[in-house]
Amino acid sequence: SAKAAGVGNYHFYSSEMTEQLRRRLALERDLRSALEREELELFYQPQIDYHTDGGDCMGAEVLLRWRHPQEGFISPGEFIPVAEMSGLIIPIGEWVLQKACQQNHLWQLGGLHGLRVAVNLSALQFQQPNLVELVATTLENTHHNPDLLELEITEGLLMNDVQSAIKILQSFRDLGVTVALDDFGTGYSSLSYLKRFPLNFLKIDQSFVRGIPQDSNDTAIVRSVIALAQSLQLDVIAEGVETAEQATFLHNLGCHKFQGYYFGRPMPALEFTRFWEARQAP
Ligand code: C2E
Ligand code: MG
Ligand code: MG
Ligand code: MG
Repeated sequence: SAKAAGVGNYHFYSSEMTEQLRRRLALERDLRSALEREELELFYQPQIDYHTDGGDCMGAEVLLRWRHPQEGFISPGEFIPVAEMSGLIIPIGEWVLQKACQQNHLWQLGGLHGLRVAVNLSALQFQQPNLVELVATTLENTHHNPDLLELEITEGLLMNDVQSAIKILQSFRDLGVTVALDDFGTGYSSLSYLKRFPLNFLKIDQSFVRGIPQDSNDTAIVRSVIALAQSLQLDVIAEGVETAEQATFLHNLGCHKFQGYYFGRPMPALEFTRFWEARQAP
């Protein structure tokens, strides 16, 4: 009967949810020890400035990877939300910042002059009262040039508390650190607010880049984000660029900075060094 089927469905969903919850708790437990077991690693994805012939590698986005001992590689899309819900993103985020600055200090000594690393900040990190201090201390401890650090934030975390967000961003600017607004276009930020934030970069979200040049909606969105960036005097970078056609199209629209598989995938530090050196060669 319908009633019996309903009961069956209830049991089905219930056990599925239990399974999901069990997995989440297991991930959280394992993530707790991931740092000390040294299972976390930073990958670096090239960011290309297309102005010059062929394009310079101007920076690298820092992307966290977790090599789980039993499950193998787990993607940040899965474990970052767990890290945020459990608060583990705080020690993990500190580790990421420290590690990225140490690496870039080594790169500066090793000749990758002017390379900028872009570190993602989560909402919970942004709410920590000592965030600016943490960034300042980390820069000091690692002898890192503030000009060569970029922080990536998302719209949601600005809109949560506009006044304190402006203060934090202003402090970053005072430190000399660059700020990029990540995944731009996917949030709900009001455009009139946008001009109040001291930002340096807008990152066009890859969901819009994917559809260009075929999809007329995506093309219109990308076009207006680039125009918006220009009128607010922000630099613009497109993420998720996978084809030469997309790069050319964006270039013609006035976007000259790119990140995506077409130029390079996220890679371990050593591989990134080789990537950078290969691009410098005449
Ligand atoms: P995100 O900050 O928007 O990073 C860009 C994501 O797009 C990365 O996924 C990158 O590998 C992927 N990507 C880059 N180019 C392409 C492309 O051409 N095609 C496609 N399909 N994808 C591309 P990833 O590494 O899986 O990271 C996912 C998200 O996890 C990041 O999105 C970021 O929000 C978060 N995340 C990663 N590392 C960290 C971290 O250290 N801290 C925090 N708080 N979040 C992080
Ligand atoms: Mg990012
Ligand atoms: Mg992004
Ligand atoms: Mg994203």
